[in-house]
Amino acid sequence: MDDAGEGAFAARLKAYEGRPAAVAGVGKDRVNAPMIRHWCEAMGDTNPAYAGPDAIAPPTMLQAWTMGGLSGHTGRTRAYDELLGLLDEAGCTSVVATDCEQEYLRPLRPGDEVTFDAVIESVSDRKRTRLGAGYFVTTRMDVRVGGERVGTHRFRILKYAPARHATTKDATTKDAPTKDASTQRPPAPDRPAHRRPRPVINRDNAGFWEGVARHRLLIQRCTGCDTLRFPWLPGCSACGYPEWDTVEAAGAGTVHSYVVMHHPPFPAFSPPYAVALIELAEGVRIVSNVTGVPYDKVRIGMPVRLEFVRCDDELELPVFRAQDGNGG
Ligand SMILES: [Zn+2]
Repeated sequence: MDDAGEGAFAARLKAYEGRPAAVAGVGKDRVNAPMIRHWCEAMGDTNPAYAGPDAIAPPTMLQAWTMGGLSGHTGRTRAYDELLGLLDEAGCTSVVATDCEQEYLRPLRPGDEVTFDAVIESVSDRKRTRLGAGYFVTTRMDVRVGGERVGTHRFRILKYAPARHATTKDATTKDAPTKDASTQRPPAPDRPAHRRPRPVINRDNAGFWEGVARHRLLIQRCTGCDTLRFPWLPGCSACGYPEWDTVEAAGAGTVHSYVVMHHPPFPAFSPPYAVALIELAEGVRIVSNVTGVPYDKVRIGMPVRLEFVRCDDELELPVFRAQDGNGG
């Protein structure tokens, strides 16, 4: 986009500021003791204020009373969807939640019925970030009980065009074999929206994805105590030492465990399919797919071998092919 085009686009985005994102929403459940108890158990919060006959809800549960769950809310407006659609069309197809701010005006108690309205508070200018260039969209939700405002929840996302990782792409073309029998290319998805979700690549795991681009599955090794670790982490969980090097997985493994996904459906996947936890010969485990057998033939203990599958022009993934030949 040239400067004039970008200015016009920014103005179209700014026109959404102040428009409602959700109107007259009603919490799916009243504030209630079971949800408070589950939350406190999950958070390890033993504050006595959240238990007993005079319990209040933990203030940070504010969003729990307004979330729509998998089925969503009916109060969401078209303005918010339109705004996200505009950004999609401009190439900002990825989204990441960046932060939220909450303000508490009075405690919520079991029996309170929560209602809420949300407004698109601001759309930023175009920003360059490590993930890619995009726009921060902030919504503000006012939460009420009996018409009285009890809290505010501000939620910010970055809608962005994913940055192309030039070094990774170069590595692919230079180092990867041009004809690799182990690389399969499944049928192209119908629409970009049906592509597999993109991995979030950051400085803590970039080396892993650079390895994948060269068809090498790299395991981190602590240079303090030699403990192998996977997935990639900034420090050693055995000794805390921050320095590390890598070991390339030889490729042999076994299915340590698996689940078959039936629900919920995601656009890029067709259920049912098996998601397996593979134990590599080196001793670490990785979540992946098993190829070469139908989902209902995956078994614990099944020997598998590493291969790389190209999902689309930008994404390659390590997967594991069943080795005992009991299936297609
Ligand atoms: Zn260590």
